[in-house]
Amino acid sequence: MNLLNASKSELNTLYSQLKEQYNACCSKGLKLDMSRGKPSAAQLDIVEPMLTVLSANEQTKSRETDTRNYGILTGIIECRELFAEILEVPVGNVIAGGNSSLTMMYDTIMRLWVFGAPESKRPWIQEEKVKWLCPVPGYDRHFSICQQLGIEMIPVPMTEDGPDMDVVEALAADKAVKGIWCVPKYSNPQGYVYSDDCVRRLANMKTGAEDFRIFWDNAYVVHHLTDERPNLLNIFDECAQAGNPDRVIIYTSTSKITYPGAGVAAMACSDTNIEWCKKIMTVQGIGPDKVNQLRHCRFLPDAEAVDALMIKHAELMRPKFDTVNDMLMRELGDTGVASWLAPKGGYFISFDALPGCAKRIHKLCADAGVVLTNAGATYPYGIDPEDKNIRIAPSLPPVEELRAAMEVFCICTKLAAVEKLLEK
Ligand code: PLP
Repeated sequence: MNLLNASKSELNTLYSQLKEQYNACCSKGLKLDMSRGKPSAAQLDIVEPMLTVLSANEQTKSRETDTRNYGILTGIIECRELFAEILEVPVGNVIAGGNSSLTMMYDTIMRLWVFGAPESKRPWIQEEKVKWLCPVPGYDRHFSICQQLGIEMIPVPMTEDGPDMDVVEALAADKAVKGIWCVPKYSNPQGYVYSDDCVRRLANMKTGAEDFRIFWDNAYVVHHLTDERPNLLNIFDECAQAGNPDRVIIYTSTSKITYPGAGVAAMACSDTNIEWCKKIMTVQGIGPDKVNQLRHCRFLPDAEAVDALMIKHAELMRPKFDTVNDMLMRELGDTGVASWLAPKGGYFISFDALPGCAKRIHKLCADAGVVLTNAGATYPYGIDPEDKNIRIAPSLPPVEELRAAMEVFCICTKLAAVEKLLEK
């Protein structure tokens, strides 16, 4: 039934039925979690052989060093080669680091903040105002970094081709706007892939700030859910061709290839940016965990090996995405109070409820024992102006638990919608 066309008495009847169903859910004492994009235990288990690829002293030698010792600031060559292949950039432009790309992004912003970029007039902290473009809905942890530093976040609407480039180009003309967050492949949370036109416009646009940076967070570069391999234009090359080689800094990691807690992260950028990073990194530390880097490269020697592993991940993930999609379709498909995306990769399903209902759904679910990502988390400052977007993360729970959680979610979505419609 389309709830938007229902009469008041139909809504009242439905409300009583839903309330009964909801109370039944609450009495089950559920404890279900769809809040964060974590791989499941089964996914972590398929990486087990990596734990034993290095089992003797002589196996810890990489091509250029004894990985057990200090040194090699930018990571072992094998690891840089692997990321260079995945990101399609020259190996000399890759730094392989510790276990988190988010940490690398944070470090980059802090370096810009404290020292400025090579071409900056002054460290960013000395600027009167620093603003940042945030395609929305987006990744909450990106927004938290800006918020912590007092960087003013400007939301930019996402389209299925990437951020609305007319808006981006207009806003980037302001010299206080220093950068933009981008998750270009299987964006978090929509699963969109940026179009060629979008990538070209980002590389070529005029910016007011001479030290503008694109944070190209390619976290889901190899995280396909189907056999399709969508092409993402190479922004590193596009920026170089546009005469803006220093504009982009690319990030990725193996967090959702091997282990989120013990993977390897990497960044890629122009020669000038690499030299700038190295100068600061030399003081920051003596080198990354090279044993873990070597372990990764022995287990995953090239992009082909990564792809083979990602196919196994997809086999475990796809039934979960299908479960969510099927249940949403069955329970909410004809209600007119919900829309969602069926991504072909990445880790999330972006769900839109009736405006004004997301926080209520979150609360109803929480009270029934189902944890969702906070409503509003996909927007800067945690404020979704329409209070409608919810990021569903189906990867962690086993399918049976996911089904139970989605049953509650669908009841809560309808209940919140009926409450809202009855208010009118
Ligand atoms: N970037 C995006 C877009 C993510 O969704 C996530 C995790 O969910 C991360 C980065 C975190 O990456 P890492 O584990 O390498 O810090």
